[in-house]
Amino acid sequence: MKKVRCCCLEQVVILDIPVQFGDRVDTIHPVVLLDEHERVLVDCGYVGFLEKIETALLEQGIVPASITKIIISHHDHDHMGSLRAFKEKYTQVEIVASELEAPYIEGALPSLRLEQAVSMQEDLQGSEREFGEQFIQLLRSVSPAFVNRTVKDGDVMDWCGGCHVLATPGHMPGHISLYLPKQKVMITGDAMAIEDGIPVIANPQFTLDEERAKQSLTKLLRYEVDTFVCYHGGIYTPQGESKELLT
Ligand SMILES: [Zn+2]
Repeated sequence: MKKVRCCCLEQVVILDIPVQFGDRVDTIHPVVLLDEHERVLVDCGYVGFLEKIETALLEQGIVPASITKIIISHHDHDHMGSLRAFKEKYTQVEIVASELEAPYIEGALPSLRLEQAVSMQEDLQGSEREFGEQFIQLLRSVSPAFVNRTVKDGDVMDWCGGCHVLATPGHMPGHISLYLPKQKVMITGDAMAIEDGIPVIANPQFTLDEERAKQSLTKLLRYEVDTFVCYHGGIYTPQGESKELLT
């Protein structure tokens, strides 16, 4: 759990939420952008994770009912799984997503991940087939949610002193990342992950267009950034040294 702050009212708070996979524990990293007016949650975990998100927010002194917006990087189940539950409990929350992702988040178009999983299922055998079926069930359990506001590449939100929306397609066509020049923070979503301390594209087998994903990763690495926050992998600092300003 870390905070990058550039003044007392503007903070980037990185959450650590453990996820149990059998006997392995992974961690996902939603982020909260805080300023005088907004409390913006970036991505919100798997289906059934509302309580975990609430707990992680409270640990940081953020009351869940004070969240004003949730921005979704893309419509994968680990990023929007708890969106509908969050919105139903905290009705004041406005949902923001890229104009390309919005129809999938709202359920107007079928999930691309589900389509991919269904098409791969035909070639699977034995335990892989069983895993594939469970995965399909999991994807079908994601509830759609209405998107209040759409954004696109180049948009600058006034959150946290300025938050730039960057199109980072590849993992999914409408995937976005968020750049905060004032704090020199990049929130990568799944456009970048960290493996053995090295920035990589997240999970190639789930990347719908690997070529575009590589271009997006290259694009992110060109920005002047002190702290990359990867949803899977956590913090990456280009110089390999910790630059977090802990509060
Ligand atoms: Zn993900």
